[in-house]
Order: sequence, then C-alpha cells, then structure tokens
Amino acid sequence: MDWNLNEAIRPDARYREWKMEKLLAEIAACNACSAHLPHGPRPVVTAGGNCRILIIGQAPGRRVHESGIPWMDQSGKELRRWLGVTEERFYDPEAFGLIPMGFCYPGKGKSGDLPPRPECAPLWHKRLLGGLPRVKLTLLIGKYAQEYYLGTAAAPSVTETVRNFRKSLPEYLPLVHPSPRNKIWHLKNPWFEARVLPELRKRVQDILS
Ligand code: SF4
Repeated sequence: MDWNLNEAIRPDARYREWKMEKLLAEIAACNACSAHLPHGPRPVVTAGGNCRILIIGQAPGRRVHESGIPWMDQSGKELRRWLGVTEERFYDPEAFGLIPMGFCYPGKGKSGDLPPRPECAPLWHKRLLGGLPRVKLTLLIGKYAQEYYLGTAAAPSVTETVRNFRKSLPEYLPLVHPSPRNKIWHLKNPWFEARVLPELRKRVQDILS
C-alpha cells in the first residue's frame, strides 16, 4: 500500500480498535442473564475492530468456558482445518472475529449443552457488528446463527441451508457445527467436504491475502 494512503487510514483503524476494546470491556462485565447460567457469566467473545471475517457460532462449551479462549477445543481444531488456517492466523484479531450467539456457557441439558441464551444476541450483536465495517464474510455456524441472520431464507433444516450455501453468498456462508459428534452427518453428506470446504477455503484465502 502507498505510504501516504496507509498513514491516512491508520487513525481510523486505531479508532475502530479502541472502540471495539471499549465495547468488549462492557460485554465482559455483562450479567444480564446470570440467573439462567449455572456456571455464572463469563462472556467468551473476541473481535478486532478491523477484522475481515466473522464467525458466528453457538455458545461456548465447558472447556471454552474454563479457558476463556473461543474455539480452543476439538471443534475449533476441526474448524481451523475447514478454514485452512493455522491457530496463529485464527486468533489474529485483524483476521477473525469470534462471536457466538450466546457469549456465556449455558450449561448442560438432557441431550448435550443447552442452547445459547436468547437474551444475548439481541442485546449485543447489533453494536458489535456495527463496529466491524471491514467484515467481508460472515460464517454462520449452526441453526441458531442461521435462523437469526438468514431469517426466512434459512431452510427448515441446517443440512438444507448448508447444502444451498451459495444462496447466502457473498455476505454469509452457513456451516454445520464442526463438533466431533457430527461424524455420522459427514459420512452421510460427503458433498460438504467436496463442495462447501473448497469454496470456504478459497474465500478465506482471498479475503485474508
Ligand atoms: S450470555 Fe450474554 S446476555 Fe447473558 S450474561 Fe453472558 S454476555 Fe450477558
């Protein structure tokens, strides 16, 4: 980039970083739905004001709740393989914003983790996304993110929404959850690895290069 242009852009970039840090500090102190959180509030969300790809997932699991680092588990490992990026690149705040639908661990239900708290996205997402003007692509992981952001454009099932991923491009790319528990789903749906992942990796590489 031309030196003068770079200098002209930098103050805006610094201002965005500063504003986002302030907002993240506000979120860190949130206890809006603490009465429903069996392990207490611990929001796990990261984003740099200049990030270019947003990953909107579900809610932290137990391991992520304990570490406080988003996607630092087996699902995150698989997600990084899907994206074709190293751990270092994944946690670069200039590259990825990691924002779940519910920022705090909701605890366990009868069949796995409970859904993300419904208060969270309406309370915080609009402000967060408003502070991320450089985002070129938003990955919607799982049904909560897809229903919230695609609305009536989401198919009745996650499988169909993901199969029709091209309809949501270029703004959104819907994905299934990269949980190791979805192994059987992948065996039944080989088109995901063959068609969705190459497109995902190409877009990620183009945006971050
Ligand atoms: S889940 Fe969201 S709304 Fe509830 S306490 Fe955590 S940050 Fe606040």
